Amino acid sequence: MSQQLSEPSQHYVDGEWIDGDGAETFESTNPATGESLGEFQRGTDADVDRALAAADDAFEEWSGLSYTDRAEYLWDIYHELKERHEELGGIVSKECGKEISEGKADVNEAWDMVEWAAADARHPHGDVVPSEIAGKDAYMRRQPRGVIGCITPWNFPVAIPFWHMAVSLVEGNTVVWKPAEQTPWCGQVIAEMFAETGIPDGVFNMVQGYGDAGEAIVDDDRVQTVLFTGSAEVGHEISGKVGGEAGKLAACEMGGKNGIVITDEADMETAVHSAVMSSFKTTGQRCVSSERIIVHEDIYDEFKEQFVDIAEDVAVGDPLDENTFMGPLIEDEHKEKVTGYNELAYDEDVDVLVDRTELDESEIPEGHEDGVWIGPFVYEADPDADLRVTHEEVFGPHVALMPYSGDIEKAVEIHNDTEYGLAGAIISENYHEINYFRDNAEIGLAYGNLPCIGAEIQLPFGGVKKSGNGYPSAREIIEAVTERTAWTLNNAEGIQMAQGLSADITTKDD
Ligand code: NDP
Repeated sequence: MSQQLSEPSQHYVDGEWIDGDGAETFESTNPATGESLGEFQRGTDADVDRALAAADDAFEEWSGLSYTDRAEYLWDIYHELKERHEELGGIVSKECGKEISEGKADVNEAWDMVEWAAADARHPHGDVVPSEIAGKDAYMRRQPRGVIGCITPWNFPVAIPFWHMAVSLVEGNTVVWKPAEQTPWCGQVIAEMFAETGIPDGVFNMVQGYGDAGEAIVDDDRVQTVLFTGSAEVGHEISGKVGGEAGKLAACEMGGKNGIVITDEADMETAVHSAVMSSFKTTGQRCVSSERIIVHEDIYDEFKEQFVDIAEDVAVGDPLDENTFMGPLIEDEHKEKVTGYNELAYDEDVDVLVDRTELDESEIPEGHEDGVWIGPFVYEADPDADLRVTHEEVFGPHVALMPYSGDIEKAVEIHNDTEYGLAGAIISENYHEINYFRDNAEIGLAYGNLPCIGAEIQLPFGGVKKSGNGYPSAREIIEAVTERTAWTLNNAEGIQMAQGLSADITTKDD
């Protein structure tokens, strides 16, 4: 595949590359340069309908294969992802602006997920449990749900689609996937990989496009489970819609307003390093990025000085350059949003410590003048103040330093004071404090003496409160894409019931 697409790329439906119904196309743009990376068909309701019909038709045969036969196609993809690591990592970095080690890590996380799903085909499925009646077998079997609709965001354009699709497929479901409008090239490459495996027609389908194509997937009755990863706004809309439909499920993972607690017993180097990684890696555009750093007053001045020094200097630039720490934001519209929050911080009267909203011209690499550049924005905020900037997800390098006095209880109270509950970290050398945080922080992903970013797919990945509603990710996804049948089989003579329920049938003559 070339490094730039020349023809409008197509949808992949029912084992074929198709133009689709709409005359409209859209462009993928490199956010570091403003260059066009290619043109893509914009999916319509009719394209989604065709993909869903294909997935529905393919389900019976696909679900009838053995787990290991289904996994074979995924093993091909696993090897392909490894073989094309450099190339695909570069495409990720070009298309979504992530620094190159992050682009490659995205591909690595994808093959980790594929490996987990394919290997799971040889692991026990379901449960055998003791029955309270001797002579009865009691066990739980899993069965695929049917057609799974997958809707993914741009910021992990290779890993997240495989979070959704790898387990879904090995479990015997068929899928219709809509990649994010900002990263269709990554979508195209993934579809090419599926096509090359020779997976039966209709099992994997991809429709490129915008939110309206996603909506058409969500609204269709043939979809049994909607898997969504993206913003809270869209995720809650989807959960609300699907929740009202009998038999249909939605598992949605959404944003966060993640915090790091740094106590007076923290190792300063670990604290500063973790906070910088959490706040600025991926230019703050990870769902787990930290926008709230809650620091004990006794070490606050020392922490602030070191953190601010790095925020002033951190390298923003070409994502393909290994010396870059922060690439661009994803698009101009998003820069407007982040800039708006930086301005709101002034309006809300916080003390701004670093403002690199507009970078100096000398900082922008040659040939990248049209990139969507922004640097860190750091401010000091009263943790007890009711501010929008410290409570709403910005999804950019916009960070509040919040000094606290008192004990770990107070720090965790501040930490929990948000509607979100995705990720958080504690930096402390005191295990009592770590354990208190572990037991009381309202989050799905918790880190100790580490940045609050990073995931291993063999753990669950998901949030609580406004951040999560089911797990369309990592190993827990199995619950969203399978039905459980509780089987009880009588091997004895006569019928005996549990809980002392009488099995006697009495008649009028008794
Ligand atoms: P969006 O919610 O804007 O988009 C996510 C996907 O949903 C895109 O494919 C989008 O299409 C599609 N979509 C938009 N509107 C609808 C609709 N009405 N019905 C169905 N689908 C729709 O999120 P972003 O792509 O901007 O991603 C950033 C967000 O994702 C952040 O909030 C981040 O925190 C969160 N996120 C959460 C993760 C988690 O695991 N908790 C992981 C990664 C990101 P389109 O192509 O038009 O954008």
